[in-house]
Amino acid sequence: MPDMCPRCGLPKELCVCDILDREATKRIKVYKAKAKFRKYVTIVEGLTGDELERTAKQLKTKLACGGTYKKGVIELQGDHIDSVKSELLILGFPESSIDVI
Ligand SMILES: [Zn+2]
Repeated sequence: MPDMCPRCGLPKELCVCDILDREATKRIKVYKAKAKFRKYVTIVEGLTGDELERTAKQLKTKLACGGTYKKGVIELQGDHIDSVKSELLILGFPESSIDVI
């Protein structure tokens, strides 16, 4: 007897409820902002709590850059606008939840 999802009634391996939840509850906004001295920072907005902290650490490691996070906003040193989205996809965020502006 396979595990069934109590919400959609499908076997767990076919169930996409978790993914749908993520898409419904979360929009991640990625954009570039000007920092001091003609430098840029890349902003990732929309994550909270543990996920914010974990994602900030993972992005800093992956992109080999400095960065900070607070109140739902990750600020990465430098212009990483092209790579942040693919890193977020690798980390498991659905493509439809990520807006690169
Ligand atoms: Zn389900």
